[in-house]
Amino acid sequence: MFAKVAFPISGFKTFSYIIPKNLKENIQVGTRVEVPFGKRIVKGIVTELQLSVSFKGHLKEIASIVDDLSIMTPELWSLIKWISTYYLTPIGKVAKAVFPKTLSTRYKPPICWYVKVVENYDKKNLILLKKRAPKQYTVFNHLINNNIIIKVGDLSKYCSSPMAICKSLEKIGLVKLIEKTLLPDATGFIFDPIHKDVIFNEKQKNVLKSIIKSIDKNKFESFLLHGVTGSGKTEIYIDAVRHCLLSGKTAIILLPEISLTPQIAGRFKSVFGDQIALWHSKLTQSQRSWTWTQICKGSFKVVIGARSAIFSPLKNLGLIVIDEEQESSFRQDSPEPRYHARDVALVRGTFEKSIVVLASATPSLESYYNYKQNKLKYLHLPERFGVAEYPTVHLVDMLSEQKESGKYGQVISGLLQDKIEDRLSKNEQIILLHNRRGYSPVIRCSDCGEILNCHQCNVALTYHQKNLQLLCHYCGHKESSLDKCCSECKSTNLLYKGTGTQKVEHLIKDTFGDVRIARLDMDTSKTGLGITSILKSFAKGDIDILLGTQMIAKGLDFPNTTLVGIINADLGLYIPDFRSGERIFQLIYQASGRAGRKDKKGEVVIQTYAPDNPVINNASELDVLKYYNIILQEREELNYPPYSWLAKIEITGASRDSVNNQANTILDNFENRYGGLEILGPVPCYLERVKNRYRYQIVLKSLKKIDINGKLLHSFIEENMERFNKNFPSRQNRINIHFDPLSLI
Ligand SMILES: [Zn+2]
Ligand SMILES: [Zn+2]
Repeated sequence: MFAKVAFPISGFKTFSYIIPKNLKENIQVGTRVEVPFGKRIVKGIVTELQLSVSFKGHLKEIASIVDDLSIMTPELWSLIKWISTYYLTPIGKVAKAVFPKTLSTRYKPPICWYVKVVENYDKKNLILLKKRAPKQYTVFNHLINNNIIIKVGDLSKYCSSPMAICKSLEKIGLVKLIEKTLLPDATGFIFDPIHKDVIFNEKQKNVLKSIIKSIDKNKFESFLLHGVTGSGKTEIYIDAVRHCLLSGKTAIILLPEISLTPQIAGRFKSVFGDQIALWHSKLTQSQRSWTWTQICKGSFKVVIGARSAIFSPLKNLGLIVIDEEQESSFRQDSPEPRYHARDVALVRGTFEKSIVVLASATPSLESYYNYKQNKLKYLHLPERFGVAEYPTVHLVDMLSEQKESGKYGQVISGLLQDKIEDRLSKNEQIILLHNRRGYSPVIRCSDCGEILNCHQCNVALTYHQKNLQLLCHYCGHKESSLDKCCSECKSTNLLYKGTGTQKVEHLIKDTFGDVRIARLDMDTSKTGLGITSILKSFAKGDIDILLGTQMIAKGLDFPNTTLVGIINADLGLYIPDFRSGERIFQLIYQASGRAGRKDKKGEVVIQTYAPDNPVINNASELDVLKYYNIILQEREELNYPPYSWLAKIEITGASRDSVNNQANTILDNFENRYGGLEILGPVPCYLERVKNRYRYQIVLKSLKKIDINGKLLHSFIEENMERFNKNFPSRQNRINIHFDPLSLI
């Protein structure tokens, strides 16, 4: 017997090996093996079993098997193959992204001891105890008074060795010790379990009924659940998952970023307890492999996590939910494979014969279009949960505001200031969105007008007040602002322009005195724990104003928040990308949805310099469908997705000339162009230089009318690039191919 083995390298080639007799039983397609490769032993994955090989040279033997249990299902293997083909990524690289590094670690999660009082204990023992062992008596008294299950360690307030005391108490039949495994996820990423009693309204009942009916069919079906913020989507996921578990099935819930949605994880945890695994980037290698192994063994039935949770090796999958499906974090751009977890989920659904629910208050335009094309079934929750109403929106034209007040560069309008004051006096909470971090995002020389750029990137440096630093947000380069001068004329007269979150924070403190404000952006939330603790304090009411970048616009539910202010709605509007408008619309809409819950009506103040811009205008009307119909028409006229397939060939390298030449050589050597294919470029990318590498791109659009399933575009790129790499191999430059890129900048 022979096996073809693929490696996590950039080539698509596989290599044949002999399967030694002692391993014959355990090697299947998808098994990870160690094999001699040149002079080294390397890890690879078996892609095919063969009875004979045509290769005439000397074949080597597989040395060993990497994992000691089967880590794959046939459906997952089909998915890996699909990703490799669709995103033009070698199968070894896909496998590397899907599996934890190694699964044969000795990691065991820590164990924690709990104690509780035994029901119907013998009262006689207690009287004896009071006399003979007063310490044990104190501890027992504490337990009985609280009547809950308690961590043994927490009893150290009452005695110095709680474990020994609990053991003695157990011996005389007063308490019971309970061992619990501390799951790797449990610390910090979730809110304490949130218990809720939920009564669904008619609309919600109908949505749930459709989903459950579909789960029972045991076949692939996909839905777009369009539910406004606060319409109770999480509760519907929970009931659908409950139904899966009752019928012996499993489920995956994908969230855009787990640390930003601790409430959802907390809700799930309170309902399903230890049947849930959390899968996120903060897990260590060994926690990862332990969790993966437990999923393979069937100990976890539900996986909640960010995009890579879509690869969880669950068996008998019944349901995949993608919450906030429009979020760009579901797309992985680097390293390869460059995949979109939403699209991968839909494909996995077909292999698993399970149902896939894409959910959002502001669906991606693709999903909205797919529903219009009858590819997704539409489920609509147009109403907010309970009696909460939509917020009232005020649009503030900052230009006329400035004219009136005479204050140039005003950051907070009179209206927003009044509203903030009003809420502070009523002890209600406020969310302020400003989607730019740092203090001043632009530094300009007042003598020659030059803007200070990062020396490695064509990107303006941002001034950060902490440590008086200038930072490049693209490569992370830092320098002190103290002795900085203009790179052109050496003048030290520098103007700090523009407004970042730090400056807004500063202004708010200046205006409102001792207001309790917390800032949530990349600078204050280096760790997931930091984010959760800020969100927790806000939920508890320890913070009046939560200020932040788009991070705060996610699925948070704070009933006491009655005012949302958007400091500058235009940020990002003029970035030359076909999705800019859609993104800004979604951000404004999502942020506005944070205002008002339960019985308190919310208000939103949107500040803009472009009140007539259709994006801002429609966002302020909170009318998703109206805006979507406008941009769909725009996209159709310009042949952009969802009316075409899109691919981007990106060439990067240290020399501008070499990158430019190579890009042009690629273009000149394209063969077999077809009608319906549009080629744009090569042009320098919007950020032409990042980390000292120049970037050029060629964009290909293939009309769906002609190229129904994208196959024409795929084979065009595959064939041309294969020929190109053979004829013009380059060591200097890197060529990256992005299928369905989210942006063209
Ligand atoms: Zn200058
Ligand atoms: Zn830089």
